Amino acid sequence: MGYITLLPQVQAFLRRDHAHFIAGQYHCSASTTRLPVVDPSTGETVATIREADEADLQAAVSTAKAAFHGAWADTLPYQRGVILNRFADLLEAHGEELAQIETVCSGKSIHLSRAFEVAQSAVFLRYYAGWATKINGETMSPSIPSVAGERYTAFTRREPVGVVAGIVPWNFSVMIAIWKIASALVTGCTIVIKPSESTPLSLLRVAELAIEAGVPAGALNILNGTGSTGQKLIQHRDIAKVSFTGSVPTGIAVGQMAMGAGLTRATLELGGKNAAALLADVDVEQAVAGLVHTGYVHQGQVCAAPERVYVHRSRLDEVLELIGPALSAIKIGNPLDEAVHFGPLANRAQYDKVLAYFDHAHAHNRVIHGAKAVDRPGYFVEPTAVLADNPDDRLLREETFGPVITFYPFDTEEELLDLINDSPYGLTASVWTNNLSKALRLVPLIEAGTVWINMHTFLDPAVPFGGIKSSGVGREFGSAFIDDYTELKSVMIRY
Ligand code: NDP
Repeated sequence: MGYITLLPQVQAFLRRDHAHFIAGQYHCSASTTRLPVVDPSTGETVATIREADEADLQAAVSTAKAAFHGAWADTLPYQRGVILNRFADLLEAHGEELAQIETVCSGKSIHLSRAFEVAQSAVFLRYYAGWATKINGETMSPSIPSVAGERYTAFTRREPVGVVAGIVPWNFSVMIAIWKIASALVTGCTIVIKPSESTPLSLLRVAELAIEAGVPAGALNILNGTGSTGQKLIQHRDIAKVSFTGSVPTGIAVGQMAMGAGLTRATLELGGKNAAALLADVDVEQAVAGLVHTGYVHQGQVCAAPERVYVHRSRLDEVLELIGPALSAIKIGNPLDEAVHFGPLANRAQYDKVLAYFDHAHAHNRVIHGAKAVDRPGYFVEPTAVLADNPDDRLLREETFGPVITFYPFDTEEELLDLINDSPYGLTASVWTNNLSKALRLVPLIEAGTVWINMHTFLDPAVPFGGIKSSGVGREFGSAFIDDYTELKSVMIRY
């Protein structure tokens, strides 16, 4: 274990003139605006990327439309599944290359890039591939009375919505894009993805692998740029559906834009301020280990991660005694060092945001651990634990999207439920207890799209995922995604 040297193909890839991937190939824009791609572990620019202009946008959507009506429509369901499985194989075969590109651009530890951006992305692709041959309608028996002996029957068809705009954030730029790419392709849609401007590179390589796997030209396109590129993409008249993952304020704006652009379908996977509840009978060691594992992975930049932890007052001291030493043991450093599991925050804006929360913590709360920047170049901060003395404290209400867990005691179950549910967010929650009966009684009372028991932040392709309240609209995974990527057409027959 040690610092890894970038593969020659990664070094060559980083030196390319980066732009877009349209109609099955590299697409160089006439645009002269270049956006910097910064390595967050140094703060230095490692590449630039051309921002899409109007012509690039038109090219991406029109090739996606042509593939939707042409090559992809002509690809039979079984063959779609074969192609997605081959795509998964190629992701794994080029896994180290993809993981290194992603780590350089996002600051994610190389372990995490390998495990999630590569291995887990392949798992999701294969799961979705299995759906290709199983997307069906139903038959019905209408009750229309027969006048002269005629009969009626009816059936429904699941038809792909059309060209999808996928807009993805910087925290898991490959895996979250794969959720959207696989959902679109397996249902017969085609897709244009707009990556975050801070992590635009790895998907360009992923798209090349998709073509190698047999995805026809035009079915998957990557259009790079800022939020304004995303905005224009959403409002394009040939976009039938938007699948957005990102923050709540941007998600609300995206939803409004999509509705305003002719009721374009939109699913929104947004932020959270996820609660974990440690009940009186909790196994404290297990819970603290679980919180450290899931609250600080990728420096806390995980939408589903626990950020506010309510602990039964009788167990609070034990929890606080364990959390400090557990966070001290986390090795902070260069994410390309295999001994490191905690790298920098992903970009300057995220760093500034988290430092502002640290200032707040020092001014208003008891800092149990961290709340400091690390004195080295790049965007490094310490994993942080805070004890709040007010349930309305900003650190218990606002999503930091950083490595900050805020603790707060509770006395009764009623109080606990009020604390958990008094939030505009509703993405995930967890209950930690040895009493399964108590946990299962709490589940229906907790306002969240996912509730975990004695675990947190475990996403599985078979289990639907998404938020309630301001955390989003729609579900990914399971069979739930099918409703969002297809329209139901009814057919009635008189015979
Ligand atoms: P943002 O909402 O800032 O950005 C998300 C994407 O939208 C980026 O590609 C961004 O481009 C683009 N974008 C920005 N403005 C617009 C606009 N006006 N119209 C269209 N697209 C736009 O989120 P972050 O990238 O900062 O990601 C962090 C957020 O994402 C957190 O709140 C986190 O909780 C949430 N998230 C939710 C997940 C879920 O499944 N529920 C999973 C992962 C993250 P650019 O970056 O170039 O500005």
